[in-house]
Amino acid sequence: MDIKQTIKRQTLADIEGTATRVAAILSGIRSHMLSPNEKKQAPVLSTVELADLCGVDKKKISYRLTRGDLPQGTMRGYRREWTMEEALPWIRSFRAHAMRPAGAAATTITVANFKGGVAKTVTAVTLAQGLARKGLRTAVVDLDPQGSATTLFGVLPEKDVEMEHTAMPLFAGQQSDLDYAFRPTYWPNIDLVCAAPMLFGAEFALPARQSNDPGFEFWRVLDRGLDNARETYDVIIIDTPPSLSYVTINALLAADGLIVPLPPSALDFASSSQFWELFSDLTNQLLRNRGQDKNFEFIDVLLSRVEASDTASTVVRQWILEAYGDKVLPIEIPKTSATATASAEFGTVYDLPHGSINAKTFDRARDAYDRMCELVEQQVRAVWALQLTEMGA
Ligand code: ADP
Ligand code: MG
Repeated sequence: MDIKQTIKRQTLADIEGTATRVAAILSGIRSHMLSPNEKKQAPVLSTVELADLCGVDKKKISYRLTRGDLPQGTMRGYRREWTMEEALPWIRSFRAHAMRPAGAAATTITVANFKGGVAKTVTAVTLAQGLARKGLRTAVVDLDPQGSATTLFGVLPEKDVEMEHTAMPLFAGQQSDLDYAFRPTYWPNIDLVCAAPMLFGAEFALPARQSNDPGFEFWRVLDRGLDNARETYDVIIIDTPPSLSYVTINALLAADGLIVPLPPSALDFASSSQFWELFSDLTNQLLRNRGQDKNFEFIDVLLSRVEASDTASTVVRQWILEAYGDKVLPIEIPKTSATATASAEFGTVYDLPHGSINAKTFDRARDAYDRMCELVEQQVRAVWALQLTEMGA
């Protein structure tokens, strides 16, 4: 026999060794990236950026500064700089019309697709930061035991995350409201519920609770657990694992709106078909067969990781438009080194300082995400308006 490929037998102890080595290297990289104090910092804004976020001309900022009733920022040479903390009162003041009206509850948005690598986590975290930049009080609930969203917030799942920082006590039944788990992040108006590998335990805890108590509804645990958070936050964004798990079902059924990131590739399109089939089977089984129902105020299919020069993707884009019609958000997120670079640095385009990468690439990515956040904000506001109408009715 002519065997070219050499093999190297690995024992379980070798695998343990590999695990330790990879963890040590990763921890080194993270410490380096987040140095000197391993804490991430929200970006600092220029006056032009602040004016942009406030939706006014720069002159208006200068004029309002003289009144002295809002934070003054810090002078750096001839230019004024604003921390996110200082910027927020400005943004909320100039965008008062866009803030959550009294009586409306947080809009809950779940980012889901049973396939991995379609940009769920990048979408969830970028959206959270984009909406936070608009002044909204935002919560991110990381439900993927891999803790990628948690990592993007500079929190290390294996090192920094305790059980009570995660949704695990809620799923296990030790808590009935998720209130206990929200923690501040480096971004002043974003709170985070972390994820870590221990969250895999929910896949055993939830079915066990169901078989002990047939009246228990395992699919509603998160929805009920968000009751208090819906009063506190303006938006709650849930990142999910790439599978149809007990936890994912909870995330889907807790949502007012869904965002399904979908790269225009034939395989991703094919697997998206399974997503809808499974999703529909599941809701039939859990809800409709029991005479219950559930509405989603919006479902967005988001074209993600789109390669401009790829002709195959042009064909698949047509299939997607035909299949999903007006569910497809009128924006495409380009596949770009801006996102890839940001991920390598454990952040998003909103974390990147200007000039850190090619300006054209950066602007293209940034414009697309800005537009995505704008579209989603419109939907969030529409959901609030609907709530108020239904309350009044
Ligand atoms: P998921 O959560 O669906 O598994 P991720 O958000 O982790 O997917 O993204 C998968 C990979 O694709 C990550 O390495 C991420 O950096 C990369 N990625 C996501 N969006 C883009 C984009 N617009 N351009 C380039 N790379 C992207
Ligand atoms: Mg993910």
